[in-house]
Amino acid sequence: MNSPPMLELLETLVRHESPSREKPSLDRLGGLLAELLRDRGGAVERIANPEGGDHVLARFSGPDAVRPALVLGHFDTVWPLGTLATMPFRIEEGRAYGPGIYDMKAGLTIFLDAIAERVKKRPRPIWALFTSDEEIGSPSSRALIEDLARQCAYALVLEPPMADGSLKTARKGVGRYLLAVDGKAAHAGVAPQEGRSAIVELAHQILDIHKLQDLEAGTTLNVGVIRGGTTTNVVPASASADIDVRSTSIAEAERIDLALRSIQAVTPGTRLSISGGFNRPPMERSPAVVGLFEQARRIGLTLGLELTEGATGGGSDGNFTAATGLPTLDGLGVLGAGAHALDEHIVIESLPERSALLAALLSELQVES
Ligand SMILES: [Zn+2]
Repeated sequence: MNSPPMLELLETLVRHESPSREKPSLDRLGGLLAELLRDRGGAVERIANPEGGDHVLARFSGPDAVRPALVLGHFDTVWPLGTLATMPFRIEEGRAYGPGIYDMKAGLTIFLDAIAERVKKRPRPIWALFTSDEEIGSPSSRALIEDLARQCAYALVLEPPMADGSLKTARKGVGRYLLAVDGKAAHAGVAPQEGRSAIVELAHQILDIHKLQDLEAGTTLNVGVIRGGTTTNVVPASASADIDVRSTSIAEAERIDLALRSIQAVTPGTRLSISGGFNRPPMERSPAVVGLFEQARRIGLTLGLELTEGATGGGSDGNFTAATGLPTLDGLGVLGAGAHALDEHIVIESLPERSALLAALLSELQVES
């Protein structure tokens, strides 16, 4: 297992800067990825995205009678163009540094390596989807991901693992809501009875909203920002609040969503409007996910790896595949640290190890259908 060729490939990907909103840069890297996937035998399709980078889908053939395995990666990063000037690709003490290297150009690299060299047999077709907008919530790829998920047998997501290398078998869903209150302005000293205070109404609502939180069920809720009013001698005509909601189960996400959408004003003459929603549903640790992880653990042992699993509060495109009911394993990327941070890096010796793991999973995982 020699890592230098993989490291070279990784360096090339890192040197192609690819912020989520820079279409020309994304399309250059997407073009390179398409070529690399084609070189490895994939039938490659570029899915047009006028809002951002085109997505890249590669289909590797296998028995047609069974559903494909879905491999998910993203090639956008959170780093603006020019970051390489201050945060160059570099190697130090067994680690490789650079913008987007850990999240998740190393993940793309191990797939390109695995499919070229290490996947010894394909019990089913393999579909690899590399998207360009994961870091901004996957606005243009979500429907595509869900559509592919409905056609596949299971999904492997190339996001970074937990800090200790654990695979991710549960992710919280994340919701953002805006609650706006309309009241009626009036002179606070002269004609207060003609006013309807949007702030008083918002205060009532905030206390009620916080009662929806259920820490035991893994549901958190935070009114993190409030605004309202104009000056002290005016009954405030408007006020609003930003709300962050996280939940580990789809049922809880639905409970909160329904509750927020049905809130009623308690102050006569005021009006409420709520907007927003869950931009990523929770990735539940379902029995199918547990079964898939258990297989992965056994396959890992044959490679000398003791795989563990973990849960995280952050979201990924794995949330979308899991929510369609597709058994999903996430965090198959390379060990490292510093996602979205200045010291972003990977552990070089993890490259061949995780490539071998990915290849073994694609060769050995057994799922009905
Ligand atoms: Zn990522």
